[in-house]
This record gives sequence, structure tokens and C-alpha cells, in this order.
Amino acid sequence: MQITALAGGIGGARFLRGLRDALDADPALAQSDLTVIANTGDDITLFGLRVSPDVDTLLYTLGGGNNEAQGWGRDQDSYTIMGELSAYGVGPQWFGLGDKDLGTHIARSLWLGEGATPTQITARLAQRWGLPDQHIRLLPMSDSPVETHVVVTREHGPEAIHFQQWWVGERAQTPAERFIGVGLDRAAAAPGVLEAIREADLVILPPSNPVVSIGIILGVPGVRDALRGTAAPVVGVSPIIGGKPVRGHADTCLTVVGADASAKGVAGLYADFLDGWLVDPDDGAFALGSTRVVPYDAPLLMSDRPAAARLARAALDLGLDLRE
Ligand code: GDP
Ligand code: CA
Repeated sequence: MQITALAGGIGGARFLRGLRDALDADPALAQSDLTVIANTGDDITLFGLRVSPDVDTLLYTLGGGNNEAQGWGRDQDSYTIMGELSAYGVGPQWFGLGDKDLGTHIARSLWLGEGATPTQITARLAQRWGLPDQHIRLLPMSDSPVETHVVVTREHGPEAIHFQQWWVGERAQTPAERFIGVGLDRAAAAPGVLEAIREADLVILPPSNPVVSIGIILGVPGVRDALRGTAAPVVGVSPIIGGKPVRGHADTCLTVVGADASAKGVAGLYADFLDGWLVDPDDGAFALGSTRVVPYDAPLLMSDRPAAARLARAALDLGLDLRE
């Protein structure tokens, strides 16, 4: 089976690692190929280096080199270089870049300078992390630079800042007016992205931020149409559990775009292509056009790897059911 997923960072990565576990545990599905389309709107240039946070979180988590407790960054990393930069008064200091993690950003920046595309670079990085051996193909959503910016309200008036500055630097506390996907309207889907959606047997939306992760991928020209047109069922897992965004500030992002911070509100953003939606029983079985809304009778929270695998199995079963 060919499965295609759209993903942001931590939630997406944990879910997809669980999905790989669930597939491997099923002899009928172990040979399945998984294509992951990653959000690159979070990308930012820091200290002259190109950082691609969601791609890196996916690489480290799927490759077994992530900081499990933190969710992002490398395992057992140190912060010697950040300390040196701080001693020189060089910032920003709000974005944590460990020494091992910096190796990834240096390699990416070097290859970009040599003319390699993000697709080629992601494939090289994925090789090191053993993703092809797991039958996982990781694709950036686009090879064109896209950056999500946020228009915030300051005392002196509105100001546009990078999404990471708002999210990490200001912990999404500064009132936001809107998000802008800079470069998104001119961006082309990366090679293989639209085909992976059109030719999939099943498309999955893991629990990722619906606005600044999935929403940005949906903004890449052609992606939304491919989702509407694919013969494969499109199933998603709610990032809102019992009315709460379990981590991150998904609720703040939803409010900014005028959507309800609920399982139903998120599904509404995908209503034109969503066939199945897994929700917490507390979020009620609501009706949403032709989308099958299914209460999941186990924790929707991926508290550990087996819990993520069980959740992924449920999404898989919903998708297989919809194929019949
Ligand atoms: P992203 O890179 O911005 O997409 O960030 P994350 O992947 O870290 O998280 C995005 C959203 O996914 C969070 O704001 C939560 O609402 C949701 N999320 C995170 N962890 C879980 C989980 O274990 N289960 C579910 N259902 N949702 C989660
Ligand atoms: Ca992200």
C-alpha cells in the first residue's frame, strides 16, 4: 500500500513513527511505502544557517536521534556554540540550537550554497537517518523558499515578524492579527508531492498544527486540488482533544484565522476533502457533510510510542474501511 501523509513537527513525527510501527506489526501491511510531505513554512535563517525545524524533527524522530522528552532537537545535545555566540552578544538566543543539531544546519546550508534543492538535501539527510530503509520517503512541500510570518499588534501598531519569533521567542503571547505565507502563492509543489497525493491508496493528516503546519502545506498551489481529486480516502486525527490543544498553541492559531478551537472547527478547515476524522469521544460525534466522524475509544494523546502506534492503527483502519 502507498500511504501519503502531510506533517508538521512534533505531533506529526510522533504519529508517523507510530504509523511505521503499526504497519511493521501487520504482515499484510509491512511492505507499505510511506511518503511524508513536510511543512517548510517554519524554515528560518539563523546565524547565516538555513534551519528547517519540521523537516529536522521528522528526520530525528523517525531516525531515532531525537530528544524524546523535548520533542524537538537531537538526543544528548550540548549548547557550547550557542554559549560562545551569547558571549559575543550574537543573537537570537531564543531559538535553541544544540551543537549536534547545528551540524544538520551547516550541512543543509553548505549544500544549498552548492546549488542542491531542498528535495535533494532532505533525501541526503534522510539517508543518514535510515529513512529509505524503513520505506519512508520524506519530501519538503516545496523547493521554493516559503516562510510563515505573523502580523502582530504592538503598541506602535502592526508589525510582521517571522513565525518562529512569535511562536518560540514570544511564546505566541503577542496578539496576532493574521498569518502570511511569504512566497506561498508563487511556490511550486516539490517534485513528487502532487503525485504522492494523487497516486496514494490512503492519505493521512496526523495531529499537526492545522493552521501553520497543515494549513501552509494546503496553501502550496495544487496541493488542495490534489487532495480533492485523489481517489484515496483522506483521514485525519484531531489535534484538539477534549476541547484542548494538548501542546503548542494550536488554539491561538485557530482563533487568529477565525476558526473554532475544537475538533469540529479543525475538521471544518478540511471539509472539502476530508473523508474520515478521528476524535476524542468527549468532543462528540458531530456531523460534517460526508465526512465520517469517528470517536476513538482510547487516549488520543501520544503519551508514548505504543500509544502513538495504537492511534495510527485506528487511523489506518478508518482509512481501510473507507476504501471498501
Ligand atoms: P507543528 O509543527 O506546529 O505542527 O507542531 P506539533 O506537531 O508539535 O503540534 C501541533 C499540534 O498537534 C499541537 O498544537 C496539538 O494540538 C497537536 N498534538 C500534539 N501532540 C498531540 C498528541 O499526542 N495527540 C493529538 N491528538 N494531538 C497532538
Ligand atoms: Ca512546526
